[in-house]
Amino acid sequence: MLMELDDLLISCMRCGFCQSVCPVYGETFLEADVTRGKIALLEDLAHELTADAEKVNQRLNRCLLCGSCETNCPSGVSIIDIFLRARAVVAGYKGLGLIKKTIFRFVLPRPRLFNFFIRISSLFQGPFLKKQSEKPGAFTSPILTPFLGRRHIPKLSNKSFSSIYGEIDEPSELGKVALFPGCVPDKVFTKLSDTCLKVLRHHKVGIYLARDLVCCGIPALASGDFKAFVELTKINLDLLAKSSFDYLVSPCATCASNIKENWHRFSDSFESKQSSLIEEICAKTMDLTAYLVKILRVDLKPKASDNKVVTYHDPCHLNKSLGVSAEPRELLKSLPGYQFKEMPEADRCCGNGGSFNLFNYPISKKIGQVKRDNIVSVKPSTVATSCPACMLQLMDLLSQNKDDIEVKHVIELYAETL
Ligand code: SF4
Ligand code: SF4
Repeated sequence: MLMELDDLLISCMRCGFCQSVCPVYGETFLEADVTRGKIALLEDLAHELTADAEKVNQRLNRCLLCGSCETNCPSGVSIIDIFLRARAVVAGYKGLGLIKKTIFRFVLPRPRLFNFFIRISSLFQGPFLKKQSEKPGAFTSPILTPFLGRRHIPKLSNKSFSSIYGEIDEPSELGKVALFPGCVPDKVFTKLSDTCLKVLRHHKVGIYLARDLVCCGIPALASGDFKAFVELTKINLDLLAKSSFDYLVSPCATCASNIKENWHRFSDSFESKQSSLIEEICAKTMDLTAYLVKILRVDLKPKASDNKVVTYHDPCHLNKSLGVSAEPRELLKSLPGYQFKEMPEADRCCGNGGSFNLFNYPISKKIGQVKRDNIVSVKPSTVATSCPACMLQLMDLLSQNKDDIEVKHVIELYAETL
């Protein structure tokens, strides 16, 4: 991997254009935080690792993997590829912490155990949570402040979507989709997963929901645990191979982009049969809003405008990774009762970045505050997005600012019209 990294690094010409688009650099103004600074570090990675592996790890992890730099790089440097491989090298050298190892290698590959933990946690979460408002994502946890800080979070669902439905395999003359809900919609925003199912059934599409799907693998990959990423992907491949389907759809932009891009990126690491299956599935993978607009061509009638304003936040993994930005807007513009207003810098990262939010919350919050200010500037009643991780960040920031703005997934708003 070190040698592969060297080959990828050559194309960076040190222009520094990545500075102007990096949300982390925009807050810290540290060259070490921007792509060019990280690439300089990686050029001497072997030496840097032996000198201070933890320091290298921390520098590499101060990145949202948002892809803003890659999208705007004039040399076409494969930045996300570089960062993911570098994280794997670092984790391989210094090892993973016990907590991460347990989660990625023991809990995530066992979906029933994972669901059991979530069920137990949901039953006992009451006394640990303090309601700050009537909004769904407005709970704080004073007891868990050392771990969660003063974040505003939603409650865990009492029962995960996957444990409610088990397996679904419904054929249809209109073709079939495999539904990949993703962990957050499965265990936190269960109603969202339920809504996706209802929307697909409303359009009379055949549905395959594989029993015991596991995490798509992005948390493990982003933490450098390449072994766990491969294992989780293999489990999902075996389950998806049990039925035939025309498209794989997900309401989670991060899952969809991980499947389409990273499964494909690392398909060489799998046996040839699995590698072919990966290519087949990647070609069929779509964000659910894009599937509704492009494939199902759902009715997008113009409607009379109304006073309620809805705006849209572009998730980085949907817009920058998958190039989907028009379709969710088309759905929102067709909503009766709403007037769509574009917020400034709608495609600016919200600052969540998965584990970045966990380990770099002060910077994540500052980046999120810029997003919050942009949302508030168009005075919406609702901000819609297409990624559950972004929803968590938006709920947190809007709730902490006491803004009376609801956060919804585009699919939830679309479902209200059916
Ligand atoms: S990563 Fe791209 S934008 Fe950044 S310094 Fe290198 S060539 Fe320039
Ligand atoms: S992926 Fe995003 S956060 Fe990371 S260096 Fe690039 S622009 Fe900055």
